[in-house]
Amino acid sequence: MAKAIQIEEFGGPDVLNWCDVKPSSPKADEVLLEHTAIGVNFIDTYHRSGLYPLNLPSGLGTEAAGKVLMVGNNVKNFKCGDDVAYVGMPIGSYAEQRVFPADRLVKLPKEISAKIAAASMLKGLTAWYLIKRSYCVKPKDTVLLYAAAGGVGLLLGQWAASIGAKVIGVVSSEEKADLARRNGCNEILMSNQKNFAKNIRDLNHGRGVDVVYDSVGKETFFQSLDCLKPHGSMVSYGNASGAVEPIAPLELTKRGSLHLTRPVLFDFIQEREELLIASKELFAMIRSGAIKITIGKSLELKYAAEAHRAIESRQTVGSTLLLP
Ligand code: NDP
Repeated sequence: MAKAIQIEEFGGPDVLNWCDVKPSSPKADEVLLEHTAIGVNFIDTYHRSGLYPLNLPSGLGTEAAGKVLMVGNNVKNFKCGDDVAYVGMPIGSYAEQRVFPADRLVKLPKEISAKIAAASMLKGLTAWYLIKRSYCVKPKDTVLLYAAAGGVGLLLGQWAASIGAKVIGVVSSEEKADLARRNGCNEILMSNQKNFAKNIRDLNHGRGVDVVYDSVGKETFFQSLDCLKPHGSMVSYGNASGAVEPIAPLELTKRGSLHLTRPVLFDFIQEREELLIASKELFAMIRSGAIKITIGKSLELKYAAEAHRAIESRQTVGSTLLLP
């Protein structure tokens, strides 16, 4: 028997149950994993609440690192004892052990520990596609990003800065402002400021920014559009404050022929080749020191509900880990 977090209904953090489960034997193309560290992500709260519906009962979690315990008959690229990590489906990383498709695993280079991998795979691959695929950040671009001291935010700020962009980060406290400044942000704006769009232009020589990476969603969508230069790009990639309501395309016209995209990581790493390219680039950035990983909080796996309460009430910085 192993332990895992499961849900039988959608709701608040209290619906998380600490259960005994019997991991199944791996099918031909699967491996059995023993997790060493599990990443907590805001998306886990959307799965738990039902904003992104799951078939119930269900496990939770989309990111972890650990060791291969057993391999299925067709698995050629992995063997028992390999250190690996993954992001994505099927859901169920909040578990001591689980089976997982071998073609979605990545082998860890020896310099990348399981904790660093679990703290950076989902968030770092998100930063990778936001900066290299959704909108290609160029040197001298001005980039505006929200939750700049958060899990994705810290990596996005460092990655954009490493390309030579000017980074304006939005945060809700002085402590978060300090951390964001140490992780790529040239300028900081507090999230509760009035005249937000004017303040952004004041920080950017009177001009709108080239791209906004908006992870807050409902509360900030229109103020983000107002911060863009003509032809600027709005990358709306999260719903921390709730999902964005439907909008009329003319809202983009009247602000200067803006571009709008609503991307999700899993569409950018669906092909194994893309997953390998993305993770290789991420691990190279970490190994070179261009990107540093901040683990703000680590909790025992059975206290996953506490991790959900913390991330939803804006109390976390950087990455949060669950340890089996
Ligand atoms: P974070 O660590 O960034 O935590 C969320 C942060 O959002 C908070 O700390 C807070 O920062 C900010 N925030 C602003 N408004 C609210 C609000 N009303 N309630 C709660 N938090 C708020 O989480 P992650 O790094 O895991 O994820 C960041 C965002 O990116 C999420 O929206 C997530 O869904 C999205 N995401 C999207 C992906 C995609 O491919 N589309 C992939 C990965 C993540 P502050 O207090 O400084 O404002």
